[in-house]
Amino acid sequence: MIADRPVLLVTGGSRGIGAAVCSAAARQGWRVAVNYASNKGAADKLVAAISDAGGEAIAVEGDVGSEAGIGAIFAAVDQAFGRFDGLVNNAGIVDVPARIDEMSAERLERMFRINITGSIRCAAEAVRRMSTRFGGKGGAIVNVSSMAAVLGSAGQYVDYAASKGAIDTFTIGLAREVATEGIRVNAVRPGVIDTEIHASGGLPDRARDMASSIPLQRPGQANEVADTILYLLSPSASYVTGAILNVSGGR
Ligand code: NAP
Repeated sequence: MIADRPVLLVTGGSRGIGAAVCSAAARQGWRVAVNYASNKGAADKLVAAISDAGGEAIAVEGDVGSEAGIGAIFAAVDQAFGRFDGLVNNAGIVDVPARIDEMSAERLERMFRINITGSIRCAAEAVRRMSTRFGGKGGAIVNVSSMAAVLGSAGQYVDYAASKGAIDTFTIGLAREVATEGIRVNAVRPGVIDTEIHASGGLPDRARDMASSIPLQRPGQANEVADTILYLLSPSASYVTGAILNVSGGR
């Protein structure tokens, strides 16, 4: 273990965009906590790949949609690394396509608990560790929003779009709240990215099917979003805070 290397927590880091962030971060010298909810196999496989490539990572189980899960995640990171320098609030879910009159209260509660409350609560724990107000050395937070926040996802999942709109607003507010405490807060809005999230929403071919509607005529790859997130975490973005970058191929 190289103790002077910065530590990054990526929620939902085991698959998709989060996994690409973990791999890229490890290559750039971050020690990485790879959070997952239930698929331990995917997290362990990624940690092994990062180690094989000379990086340092741990798998951390925990549901960001529960207080107990968030407590367990941060306790595991504290125990393994004893420092905290960056958070990527990436864990997020969609649901099956539905009109608003078909959406149950349970569906909305789960969506907002994971996508909104989870991100805000993880940011709070990160601020407690990074803020100079509490003796920390500063750091960076990147929230993963979605182009859905501005497009609205009519007829598909307006609840998901609304949850990402909340992430945009939270990014702006938190950036201003902790700007004098050494913490930068930014967000990315991915467009249609080729990951398993579409299958989890019952639309496995969504990324391919939407290609012709995207100005760049193709879905994005997870590593293309990861590169933007790594930029926002890096000293190259030292004067960037409260920004929300579209990574959407022009969508
Ligand atoms: P994905 O391929 O479905 O991967 C989701 C990851 O999040 C997995 O590692 C999963 O862990 C984890 N996860 C799910 N629920 C969790 C919870 N309650 N607590 C902790 N971890 C949880 O998703 P993705 O496409 O990479 O999406 C990542 C983020 O990008 C999400 O916030 C999503 O809304 C956003 N986004 C994606 C797209 C796109 O087109 N893909 C577009 C715009 C925005 P397990 O393996 O244990 O399930």
